[in-house]
Amino acid sequence: MYADNALADEAARLSALRRLEILDTAPEEPFENVVNLVRTILHVPISTVTLVDADRQWFKAKAGLEATETPRSVSFCTHAIQQRTPLVIPDAKADPRFSGNPLVEGDPHIRSYAGVPLVTSDGYNVGALCAIDTRPREFSESELAILRNFAGIVVNEMELRRIAERDQLTGALTRRGFLEKVEHEIARCRRHARSASLLLIDVDHFKAVNDTHGHPAGDAVLRELAGVLGTAGRSGDILGRIGGEEFAMLLPETSGDEAIAAAERYRAAIAAHPVAIGPGRTIPVTASIGVAPLEDRIASAEDWIARADVPLYRAKNEGRNRCAVAQAA
Ligand code: GH3
Ligand code: MG
Ligand code: MG
Repeated sequence: MYADNALADEAARLSALRRLEILDTAPEEPFENVVNLVRTILHVPISTVTLVDADRQWFKAKAGLEATETPRSVSFCTHAIQQRTPLVIPDAKADPRFSGNPLVEGDPHIRSYAGVPLVTSDGYNVGALCAIDTRPREFSESELAILRNFAGIVVNEMELRRIAERDQLTGALTRRGFLEKVEHEIARCRRHARSASLLLIDVDHFKAVNDTHGHPAGDAVLRELAGVLGTAGRSGDILGRIGGEEFAMLLPETSGDEAIAAAERYRAAIAAHPVAIGPGRTIPVTASIGVAPLEDRIASAEDWIARADVPLYRAKNEGRNRCAVAQAA
């Protein structure tokens, strides 16, 4: 079905996993549903959607299990992803690969295992859907068929979820996709004591563009604006379309002063780029930008955006086409 070198190419496999942008994200309903169904239908106490990262296995969904990840060295799934067919271990204590495994000897006391590889549409085994029991058992053909079907659903969900992270009109992250990135960044900054800043970017008098030139012209402005923002910044900056004509930019590794300079650069790039709305017709576009460096009191992505909304409002009041920064606490 797939070129088998996809099984051997670990670097490409890890790239495929990275492309899904799913590691360390919050629980999501479709995956929760699947592990709960697997538990019920296959009568097992534990089920997981496991993704096999370079040095660890991480659970996108888990039922009947406490851990969120384990080292890859003790992972059953790391064996499952070596093959295209389900890996079935009827009795882990009787299998030399697993008999001394700490997950068998201790918590969660795995005794039997069935794992179906999660195969991306480009053929990479990024992880496995697992049914796990604490007693020895067989898995019937029909049970494995069910597990295979669910594994297909899981991969579909993972790939669809990726698509929905991008806004159709502008290619920027959707609000949802952006918030997820921001939550991630907050956690990363806290863990490693790094700085980051967020810009909130709102088109000036955008209603007038729609009213004067029509909605398609308004759409063209949004598309162009996203293009300008995408090329004016650093490669690590992340753009989201978080409302109708409101964009946000996440600037990792960026202090307040650097963020003000970046915002000014973005503002100037927008103002320097009139948008073509028809043959020979261009209109000037400007935007106002609120800047909010990450602070200790910011508890969530929504919180951070709200912090940037205050200076954005000020920038609007002070005449638009300008940047303003949040006052530190
Ligand atoms: P301000 O300078 O104060 O921001 O003025 P504004 O006119 O930009 O402010 P406001 O937020 O009131 O207007 C936003 C408008 O954006 C209203 C809405 O009709 C329009 N809009 C929202 N989403 C879209 C879209 O996807 N396409 C188009 N063409 N217009 C949109
Ligand atoms: Mg607005
Ligand atoms: Mg506006």
